[in-house]
Amino acid sequence: MMLNKLTIKQAQEKLETGDISSVDLTRACLDRIKKVDDKVKACLTVCEKEALAEAKKADERRANGEKSGLLGIPYIAKDNIMTKDVRTTAASKILENYIAPFDATIIKKLRTAGAVLLGKSNLDEFAHGASTENSAFGATHNPWDLERVPGGSSGGSAAAVAADMCLFALGTDTGGSIRCPASFCGVTGLKPTYGLASRFGLIAMTSSTDVPGALAKTVEDAKIVMDAIVGIDKNDATTVNARELSSGCALKGKKIGIPKEYFNEGLDIDVKKLVMQAVEKYEKQGVEIIDVSLPHNKYSVGVYYIITPSEISSNLARFDGIRYGFSDKESKELIDIYKKSRGKGFGPEAKRRIMLGTYALSAGYFDAYYLKAQKVRTIIKEEFDRVLSEVDCVITPTSPHTAFKIGEQSSDPLKMYLEDIYVSGASLAGLPAISIPVGFSKGLPAGMQIIGKRFAESALYNIGSAFQNATDYHRQKPELK
Ligand code: GLN
Repeated sequence: MMLNKLTIKQAQEKLETGDISSVDLTRACLDRIKKVDDKVKACLTVCEKEALAEAKKADERRANGEKSGLLGIPYIAKDNIMTKDVRTTAASKILENYIAPFDATIIKKLRTAGAVLLGKSNLDEFAHGASTENSAFGATHNPWDLERVPGGSSGGSAAAVAADMCLFALGTDTGGSIRCPASFCGVTGLKPTYGLASRFGLIAMTSSTDVPGALAKTVEDAKIVMDAIVGIDKNDATTVNARELSSGCALKGKKIGIPKEYFNEGLDIDVKKLVMQAVEKYEKQGVEIIDVSLPHNKYSVGVYYIITPSEISSNLARFDGIRYGFSDKESKELIDIYKKSRGKGFGPEAKRRIMLGTYALSAGYFDAYYLKAQKVRTIIKEEFDRVLSEVDCVITPTSPHTAFKIGEQSSDPLKMYLEDIYVSGASLAGLPAISIPVGFSKGLPAGMQIIGKRFAESALYNIGSAFQNATDYHRQKPELK
């Protein structure tokens, strides 16, 4: 077997017995990147020399008796996560040559654990998007069909995992950016509860919903990654020391809610069938299936696209041509430096969001837009809380359809925003959610989303693993011809 195809769990066992070394594993991933990434274009930076040196160090640590779960495991990080000494671009021209002076907390934790950073993956510029077409450095291609998008914004990370360029990847999810690409690329993607993992060193998008999380080959692997990166961080005041709510392992007696609003018109008939088949499988295993209703979910995209641009307009203000990244050298006046650096540095979607957000926050409009959106957000959150007090989790499709063609929607921002219809609610409510492969439609993978109670990631792991133990959709691989 090619080593790059291993899951983390399988690699751990082989490393443990001495069958393979981290250097072997890292080489296999680097070879795979060399072989296929000119077609997939998942990586913006590959750090071959550094990765091999880290792998060697991991092997030495293991020889000295260390055993950490991720010791020697190669991974790729989304390029909006700061990595010391390795370029972090957020897929933007404004940060094209930016080298972060420190590691994000989650990167630091992975370094301590001995994981090996192979490189940085492509994304929609500043994570604004659902297809990875908004990258200033070109689109990533879906390994299942190179003419299609991998989803976004963590499209590079999902495509890299699907094409076995790494054993896992880090992503960020603000309104679906881990779950949507996981679904389009046929991998497992976990967005944790808001506050479970530190945002320190993530390039901020929407601070009130941003979370880092894992893209992996199995639910079991996603859990291994999350266990290594969660925890309170003095540099992020929104992190909490959560004692995980345990949900017990047995499926029998569990209650799964099916919100009818997520199965309405607009949902592809094949995707609907696949998710309903999965629900039937759970029922056969003794799970109680309960019809529930989340009537305000229809407002979640509208609310999300007021709150998100508002926070973006504030967060992107720091890129002024003075403090970070690209600075227009021809401008002499300070105001011109601001205007030209931002004008040339930001792509069209970032500019659109800055304008929308500045408008929504401005005096006279704040009450009508931002404040109203926050009120509706509270209703959406309370609705989820009410439903989740009656069931262990809810199951929905992750996306209304499978991956669409590159270019098919890129000139229609509204259509692109509607991609988030099933994923934005959990983000607004700060709830954990996982997307797992649920089958195929016309050769393309579809995803099922499981949304749980705050800090009850364990329920998602149990329910998700039970499905993966009974199916092999997650083991199927793209041919990549
Ligand atoms: N599609 C969403 C957006 O464009 C997702 C972003 C994200 O989760 N980073 O805002």
